Amino acid sequence: MRKFISAIAGSLMMFALSAPLATVAKSAEYFSIGTGGPTGVYFQVGNAICKMVAKIQSAEHGRKKGTGKAYRCSAPSTGGSTYNIGQIMQGELQFGVAQSDWQYHAYNGTKPKKVKPFKGLRAVFSAHPEPFQIIAGKDSGIKNWASLAGKKVNIGNPGSGQRGTFEVLLEAHNKDTGYFGATSELTSSEQSGALCDGKIDAFGYTVGVPNAGVAQSTDGCGAYIIDLKTSPVKRLVANNPFYAFATIPKGTYKTSAKDVTTFGVMASVVTSDAVRDEVVYAVVKAVFENLDDFKKQHPAFANLDPKKMIVDGLSAPLHPGAIKYYKEAGLM
Ligand code: GLU
Repeated sequence: MRKFISAIAGSLMMFALSAPLATVAKSAEYFSIGTGGPTGVYFQVGNAICKMVAKIQSAEHGRKKGTGKAYRCSAPSTGGSTYNIGQIMQGELQFGVAQSDWQYHAYNGTKPKKVKPFKGLRAVFSAHPEPFQIIAGKDSGIKNWASLAGKKVNIGNPGSGQRGTFEVLLEAHNKDTGYFGATSELTSSEQSGALCDGKIDAFGYTVGVPNAGVAQSTDGCGAYIIDLKTSPVKRLVANNPFYAFATIPKGTYKTSAKDVTTFGVMASVVTSDAVRDEVVYAVVKAVFENLDDFKKQHPAFANLDPKKMIVDGLSAPLHPGAIKYYKEAGLM
């Protein structure tokens, strides 16, 4: 008899344990945010968003006893901006972080040449500024754009934003990769190690400031960031709405003895018109209602300003789910 009772108790317990899980599994909606390399800032953006989504969910769960829709968010490391946009277009990712230049080009079909415009691309908000940086090795002798001629340069992996922006920079100077002695396509998490090991003389990286990946070579082996203010760079900034001059302040890294001037873009969060309004609404609500907490997730987010986040660096139309929240919050 006792055996019988404990068997019943056991199965009741099993039911009690499995019931909430089953409920979550039935109503939970999963979505993914494409980021960049694991040592970049995009990875921090994506994971900070997921953290805020989880936070607001557990708060709402407490208030409404779980009647609200459950969202499950993941932010995997990826190849970067253009990879993310391509995966959003194919419906493999629901959101992604992307440079404002590649958001513009994807929506308008302006680059690469003869690419079909992705008219379903939608903007959600912009995050931190991203200067395009050339980081040169301690003994490379590189002082400026001209002295990159003949050097071993990492131009970034295909799919990354810096790879595309580096190609634009070369083209603006009427050059191609033949300008360098050798080029490599290392990812952002490989390039600092290669620079410190002397395998490359410099690498190009569009990334928020400060960044642990850059610090690995500046603070780790004396690499430094060079100024980029040639006439072609000035023309790029003058002729394109998505570029602006950017400063990497003195003292940012161990080798930042003075301010560095370069050009840059904004990091933006994008999605597609195929993603439901409710999902986009839930994401922006989670971020904007917890913005103080969000800003603490990485020093590059310290200056985020909600009024600018819904305008700056956004060239694709805002997603209606985002607009709904921005209106409700009095931001629009
Ligand atoms: N801007 C880079 C890209 O578009 C990523 C930078 C980062 O990971 O923070 O691929």
